[in-house]
Amino acid sequence: MVYNQFIDGALTTDSKRESWVNYDPSNNQPLGEVCQANDEDIEAAINSSEKAFQIWKNKTGAERGRVLVKAADILRSRLEQIALLETHDVGKPISESLAVDVSSAADALEYFGGMAAGIHGEFFDLKNAFGYTRREPLGICAGIGAWNYPIQIAAWKAAPALACGNCMIFKPSELTPATALELAKAFMEAGAPPGLFNVVQGDGRVGKMLVDHPRIAKISLTGSVATGKKIFSAAATELKHVTLELGGKSPLIIFEDADLNNAVSAAMLANFYTQGEVCSNGTRVFVHRKIFDSFLKQLKERTERIRLGEPTDPETQMGAVISKVHLEKIIRFIDSGKSSGATLLTGGFKPEKDFKGRNISSGNFLAPAIFTNCDDSMEICREEIFGPVLSILAFDTEEEVIERANDTLFGLSAGVFTNDIKRGHRVIHQLHAGTCWINNYNITPIELPFGGYKQSGIGRENSLAAIQHYTQLKSVYVELGNVESPY
Ligand code: NDP
Repeated sequence: MVYNQFIDGALTTDSKRESWVNYDPSNNQPLGEVCQANDEDIEAAINSSEKAFQIWKNKTGAERGRVLVKAADILRSRLEQIALLETHDVGKPISESLAVDVSSAADALEYFGGMAAGIHGEFFDLKNAFGYTRREPLGICAGIGAWNYPIQIAAWKAAPALACGNCMIFKPSELTPATALELAKAFMEAGAPPGLFNVVQGDGRVGKMLVDHPRIAKISLTGSVATGKKIFSAAATELKHVTLELGGKSPLIIFEDADLNNAVSAAMLANFYTQGEVCSNGTRVFVHRKIFDSFLKQLKERTERIRLGEPTDPETQMGAVISKVHLEKIIRFIDSGKSSGATLLTGGFKPEKDFKGRNISSGNFLAPAIFTNCDDSMEICREEIFGPVLSILAFDTEEEVIERANDTLFGLSAGVFTNDIKRGHRVIHQLHAGTCWINNYNITPIELPFGGYKQSGIGRENSLAAIQHYTQLKSVYVELGNVESPY
C-alpha cells in the first residue's frame, strides 16, 4: 500500500518522493509507505483548489449541501471498511471505530450539509437606506490533523469549510495517512469538483508549507499546544484566520451525592477510551473525600476488567497506543508519577498477553493506569500525558475544588457529577473550560460547539459557531435617497 497525495480528484502516482513506513500500532508490522508531499505537490494542490473554489463558491447552499450529504451516505455505506482502516492505522478497538469515528465524520457532513442552504446574512432597515450582510467564504483553507481521530478530525474541519463555500487542503498526521484519502474519494463520488478537498501527506514540514503559503486563507489545526503556538505566530505574519483545537488536562469533579456507578463509568470513559489518547480527557479526577474509598474500589475493579488486546477483535475494549515513541513517553510519565510519591494503584505496565491469552508483546500496549496519593503539583497532574493514565485527587469543599480545577494553563474541558442540579450548574459556570459536561463525560454531539479556553485553543468546531470561523462578514449599505454632502 502506498499513501500518496490526493490532488485534483485523484491519487498521485509519482513515486519519486521522500517516504517512510506506516506501522500498525498493535504489532508494529508495516501497513504501507507514506509519500511526503514536496513543493510541486503543494503548488498543484493550491492551483487545483483555486479552480475548484471558482466553481464551488458560485453554487447555491442547497447544491453544496447535497454533495456533503451524499458524501455522508457514502461514508456510512463503507462504515466497516473505513473503520477497519482506522483501527489498523490508530490501534484503537474496532468496536470504537465502528461506533464513533466514521459515524461522527458522517454526522458532521450531514449536519453542515443540511445547514448549507441556511447560511445567510442579516437585513437592517435604515429609513432612507438599508443595509445587509453577507457571509462570504474565505477561500482555500488548510486543515492539519492529529493522529487520534483521523477521519473525524478531517470531516469536522471539511464539513463546515465546504458548506460555507470554501475548499480545503488537508494534511493528516504523518502517523495516520489512510482515512483522509477515503473522505477525499467520498467527496469526489458525491459530485464535488476536483480539487475541492485535496489531501497532502507528510510531517510538520508539509504543515508549515501550508501555513506559510500566501494563497492559504485559513488554518485549522488539531494538535498540541506547542504546534498551535508555532502556527498562530506564523499565521500572524499575514493575519490569516486560525482555529486551534489543542491539548488539555481537564478536571472531572465527583461530588459526594453523585451516582457512583455513573461517576465511575464516566471516569473510565474520560481516561481509557481510545487508550486515553483524547484531547478532552478528564485526567484529573477530583473525588469528594466522603466517597473516595468506595469510588476507588469500584474504579480499580472495573479498570482491571477492561479487555485489552487485539484491536480488530470485536470484544476488545482497549487497543494499542499510536507508536513505540509515544508508549515510551507515557511510561516516562508513569515513572515520574512513581518517583514523585504517587501510588500506582493498578496498571502502567506493558502486558505480554491480551484478554484472550494472545501474545501482544510486539504491540504498543499499556495496561490502564490509576494513580492515587497524588498532589496537584506533580507532573502527572499538570502535563497532558495523552495515554491511559488517570490521576485521582481527594477534595473537601466546593470552593476548594473549583480553585484547584482551574489551576492549569489548559481549558479544554471539564465535568461535574452531582445530583444537586443547582450545584451542577453553579460549579460548571465557574470552571474555566470551553467544553463541559454535567453527569456525563466526553460526549460531543455535532450540535454543540467544541473547543477550549486558555491555552487549549482558539475558535470552535461543530455547531452553528463553526460557520463564523469559515466565513467573513461583508456589510453593504444601500442608499435610497440623495447623498448629503457638506461640500
Ligand atoms: P502535534 O501538535 O504534534 O501535530 C499535529 C499536526 O500538526 C500534525 O499533523 C503535525 O504533523 C502538524 N505539525 C507539526 N508541526 C507543524 C508546524 N510547525 N506547522 C504546521 N503543522 C505542523 O500533535 P499530535 O499529532 O501529536 O496530536 C496530539 C495532540 O493533539 C495532543 O496535544 C492533543 O491534545 C491534541 N488534540 C486536540 C484535540 C482538540 O480537538 N482539542 C483533539 C485531538 C488531539 P506530523 O505530526 O505529521 O509531523
